[in-house]
Amino acid sequence: MKIKVDYDLCESNALCEALAPDVFELDDDDYLQLKTEETTPGNIEAVKRAVAACPRAAISLED
Ligand code: SF4
Repeated sequence: MKIKVDYDLCESNALCEALAPDVFELDDDDYLQLKTEETTPGNIEAVKRAVAACPRAAISLED
């Protein structure tokens, strides 16, 4: 699945980075960067936790 972020909704609180640091990272300007747009067997559970935890519902998964 593809990982999508609505950057207009994101408030850069780093909750997703805390849960899935292999996928999400805030840069030096506090903008969220995706290290990968693809889910893998190794990151999918962490990505799903990040989707559920995002208070802005800014992260979604697409087939
Ligand atoms: S948890 Fe949501 S609001 Fe927070 S940095 Fe990640 S995408 Fe942005």
